[in-house]
Amino acid sequence: MTAKSAPAQDRLPVLTLNGGSSSIKFALYPRSNPPKRSLQGKIDRIGLSGTSFAFHDPAGNQHETRNIADSDHAAASRFLLDWLERRIGFDALGAIGHRIVNGGARHHEPQPITGALLDELRRISAYAPEHLPAEIAMIDLFRERAPRLPQMACFDTAFHRHMPRVAKILPIPRRYQSAGVERYGFHGLSYTHLMEELARAAGAKAALGKVVLAHLGNGASLAAVRDGKGIDTSMGFTPAAGVPMSTRSGDLDPGLVAYFAQTENMTAQQFHKMVNHESGLLGVSETSSDLRDLQQKEDTDIRAAEAVAMFCYQIRKTIGAFAAALGGLDTLVFTGGIGENSAEIRSRICEGLDFLGIGFDEMRNAASEPVVSADVSRVTVRIIPADEDIVIAKAVFALLDANAILQPILRP
Ligand code: ADP
Repeated sequence: MTAKSAPAQDRLPVLTLNGGSSSIKFALYPRSNPPKRSLQGKIDRIGLSGTSFAFHDPAGNQHETRNIADSDHAAASRFLLDWLERRIGFDALGAIGHRIVNGGARHHEPQPITGALLDELRRISAYAPEHLPAEIAMIDLFRERAPRLPQMACFDTAFHRHMPRVAKILPIPRRYQSAGVERYGFHGLSYTHLMEELARAAGAKAALGKVVLAHLGNGASLAAVRDGKGIDTSMGFTPAAGVPMSTRSGDLDPGLVAYFAQTENMTAQQFHKMVNHESGLLGVSETSSDLRDLQQKEDTDIRAAEAVAMFCYQIRKTIGAFAAALGGLDTLVFTGGIGENSAEIRSRICEGLDFLGIGFDEMRNAASEPVVSADVSRVTVRIIPADEDIVIAKAVFALLDANAILQPILRP
């Protein structure tokens, strides 16, 4: 592409990258208002057997699924870059927007990834060992292979930055606070989208009310939001805290660390692996981390039944706690693979919450309608599909629009 025929860089599409602990999701957004993705894809089961790559366009006309053997994060990232270079070409991209799991105490707003920001992310990479090292490696790979392509960071912690101190402080010796050990909270890009969509669907008054957001996917967390600002959230210093998840334990008795060290010689690393990869639904059921699998086995396998019951109970308990933190509840929103799709789990979570003013409409719930509460319900219960990528795309276009592209600081 010659310089003359090339469209201005800020007119080109934005690529969003959303790296999880065992997956990398990507999407391409040509410029439009609002941005609409033209293709999306995913590398799944990174670090496990049977790593796979898949992409499709929104109509499903172009698609590809491929087994890429058993890849670690580095191999999966290289595969993705090769594919993107062949399929789209780095010159045809305006910028890349990365979901960055934690920006630490200093970085909140979406921003260009500079050398200084990368240094800071490296410094705090022990905050999120499941995510940050892989995200940094991906950024480095793009800097090496496409040095002229601007890269931007969008932080999953930003949504929670206004939480009051009382919600942020962890009850351990105070000296650790100054080292940045506090409740950060995650799923912030998803919560940002939910609040935008809530305002769009229900109006500003509802979005400024007392809201509990429940993002229930493989990772699961809840957030309490008042006046449009997060005031508490279930995840903590790391995403392993809070409610039980597909393979993460959520909150645990801290006495278990010493107990397992003493009785099983368990090291810190083994404990980390257990609570992140071997616990939650998988740990309790001993068969699957996937909620659908467990629901199918509930009648015949007590372990599956207990895992599902524990999941619903702990989420219900957290909704109650957050209603107390908010001083009431106006709106409850479900999102994520489980929150959007499982009528039965939504219903079981809300069982007995009529004292909070939650009146379920089982017909609407069974049909997964946008509003699943009854008209007479004091609390409106909604389903809003999760979309973290569009939040990244909008933020990157806004940065490009702010003419950030012209500033030399953007150049890696
Ligand atoms: P991730 O957090 O990796 O993005 P998802 O948001 O896709 O994950 O959520 C995955 C979870 O959603 C799995 O436990 C899966 O069983 C569950 N799920 C997806 N569809 C359904 C459904 N129709 N009914 C029940 N659970 C579902």
